[in-house]
Amino acid sequence: MMKKCPECGSGEIVPNLIVFADDSANGLNPPYVKLVEPEPVKRPFVWVPKHVASGFRAAVCGACGHTEFYTNRHAEILEAHRKGYTSQTCSLNVIPIP
Ligand SMILES: [Zn+2]
Repeated sequence: MMKKCPECGSGEIVPNLIVFADDSANGLNPPYVKLVEPEPVKRPFVWVPKHVASGFRAAVCGACGHTEFYTNRHAEILEAHRKGYTSQTCSLNVIPIP
C-alpha cells in the first residue's frame, strides 16, 4: 500500500477511499475485479464456477494528486490466480470475444 508518493515523495497520503463509477449510486456498486474458476475437463452435470471478486480502495497523494488503487483481498486473488481462475466478461458468452 502507498505510504509515500512515488511521484513526488510526499508522505501526505489519503488512503482507503472507495472508487465510484457512473452507474454506481452511493458507492453500492463500485468497480471491481472478478476471477472465475476454469471449467473442468470432465465437467460435472451440475457445475457452478467458483469466483473471487474484489472492489478497490484508492490512496491519493495530498501533495500532487497521484492516485493508486489497491485491494485488501490480494491473498485470495493471488490464490485464485494460481488455481487458474481468470478474469472474464460478465456476458453470457453467446458471442465469442474476438
Ligand atoms: Zn505526490
